[in-house]
Amino acid sequence: MQNIRNFVIIAHIDHGKSTLADRLLEFTGTVPTRSLRPQYLDQLESERERGITIKMAPVRMTYPLKAISYQLNLIDTPGHSDFGYEVSRALMAVEGAILLVDATQGIQAQTLANFEQAKKSGLTIIGAVNKVDVAPEELVKQSTLELASLLEIEESEVLKVSGKTGLGVSELLQRVIEKVPPPSPAAAGPKGQALQSRKVGHSELSNVSKALIFDSKYDDHKGIMAFIRVFNGEFMMLGKDDSPYILLATGEKFKPKEVGIFTPQFKAVEKLSEGEIGYIATGIKDPDKLKIGDTIASSEKSELLPGFKEPKPVVFVSFYPSESDEYENLKTAFARLRLNDSSIQYESDTSEVLGRGFKAGFLGRLHFEIAAERLEKEFNIETVHSFPSVAYNVQTKSGWEIIKNPKDFPSEYFGVEEPIARIEILVPGDYLGGTLQLSQNFRLRDIETKNFGSRIIVIAKISLSDLIQDFDDQLKSVTQGYASLNYEIIGYEKADVKKIEIFVASHLIPGLTRIMPREDIEREGRKMVERLKDLLPKEQFTQALQASVDGKIIARETIPAMHKLLGSFGKTGGDRTRKMKLWKKQQKGKKKLKEIAEKSQVKIPASVFKELLKK
Ligand code: GDP
Ligand code: MG
Repeated sequence: MQNIRNFVIIAHIDHGKSTLADRLLEFTGTVPTRSLRPQYLDQLESERERGITIKMAPVRMTYPLKAISYQLNLIDTPGHSDFGYEVSRALMAVEGAILLVDATQGIQAQTLANFEQAKKSGLTIIGAVNKVDVAPEELVKQSTLELASLLEIEESEVLKVSGKTGLGVSELLQRVIEKVPPPSPAAAGPKGQALQSRKVGHSELSNVSKALIFDSKYDDHKGIMAFIRVFNGEFMMLGKDDSPYILLATGEKFKPKEVGIFTPQFKAVEKLSEGEIGYIATGIKDPDKLKIGDTIASSEKSELLPGFKEPKPVVFVSFYPSESDEYENLKTAFARLRLNDSSIQYESDTSEVLGRGFKAGFLGRLHFEIAAERLEKEFNIETVHSFPSVAYNVQTKSGWEIIKNPKDFPSEYFGVEEPIARIEILVPGDYLGGTLQLSQNFRLRDIETKNFGSRIIVIAKISLSDLIQDFDDQLKSVTQGYASLNYEIIGYEKADVKKIEIFVASHLIPGLTRIMPREDIEREGRKMVERLKDLLPKEQFTQALQASVDGKIIARETIPAMHKLLGSFGKTGGDRTRKMKLWKKQQKGKKKLKEIAEKSQVKIPASVFKELLKK
């Protein structure tokens, strides 16, 4: 154990975590240079397409220092606030953190949030300023100063690195080995208050093996793969006469199908020893039997390791399979997606129009968009979903009730409360004016400002329903990208809202029902039908789009009939194949239209919702 170092890289989004991880993989010879595509650890299709990290990614490396070979277990983490839960779990598996700051940007809102989290977990934090290959010297100096003062260390202790060129990366590896403590067994209380306050129960055996499950993934052949940090003892394949391992929270027993490490691909090894990070293929197929944060132990006479605080979903969306016979597949897809993203919560939900589906909760708008994308890309399921909504606390005759789905929002009520977020924006002084102007559109309140070096921190309250609109995009545009944002949900406050419903060809489209502030209803209703007219695939509709509140139509638009459009094509296009194509398209369009008329089922892509959410 003396030669093991477990650590994470944490930083604000785009400060270069995954690129630095590339250099670590290269310098340690973990991945051959020729196979190293940029941000190698971003393996999900959605990560590659968007160029951001969504999942934490563990990898085992070896590196020699002064004739000793060290086992380095690195976990790369995402930077966006919506994925803070990923970071918090990674922190529980390690003893150290590299806190990275982009020299051209300086400390940003998420840098501060990550720092606080790592400190609370009792980790050894190593500060490094990144991108020194491109940053002008005075910015490197400035960022170094900021980081030194945040970490309360000397400026000379802050490392200067480039994840691009590899400059300073060997020094960084050496610093990790020298400063991050090797892991120690759980009962000794090695890391953080959570573990220190933990007492070994009287029934606890001293030779019990225990590991914390910090993530998981479904494999068709090996069942659920549990990503683990071994805190006590060791884990290996078991013989016929050995007693099985046990999941302490669910009581499920199993014998491993495989024990292995992350290279970062799964690679089988003989055993995982105390202090190590790796995986166990459990062979368990039922997703309900394995919980993230549970402890795998060699004996049921042992206590759970401290798990994770359950995240609270705040953005709710109903999903229905595009084809109603796909319900079971959607159910399986949700269960498997949840294994790899345990912050998603879902329950069954039925709509008169859309049939059986699920109401799912997410940690933010981006989290929802990514999950919807993953269902489609990784599980091949097409879904129809509702407008993302926050949960309202509504008082009716039967008392207070949390309403997560806009379609369930009552038309008569005595009172409503909505979730409120506290935002922290770190912004250069020059852009303070622009930032504060956002308060007109987004109803910022209780605004406070305080100095942060030459910059300013703006703290304010905002309705979560406003925040999940395009607040981040607008902040970016008024500050030319120089501001950064962090948020947390702080509770519920009184709201004045109304339900707005959308009809297409006289059919209610349940997925488009929204709850909105009373003062915005007229304007937003008009805007929604105008945008829908532009956004919805044209050939599908030939009739009226209407927005309605309390049974009263407040806005209407008409989409021109499809055959007219095709007719004009027909006049200009001469050749036969093209006409055939058009004819086929027309037939397909007609069939779609019929379906919509029958079921009033419209597939709204996540991108359309995003467009509609813009203020
Ligand atoms: P992450 O979100 O923190 O993981 O950041 P990424 O590793 O994805 O990098 C974000 C962007 O910064 C990418 O375009 C990288 O190519 C770029 N980048 C990362 N590190 C460096 C560096 O040291 N120098 C330069 N010039 N660019 C870098
Ligand atoms: Mg990344």
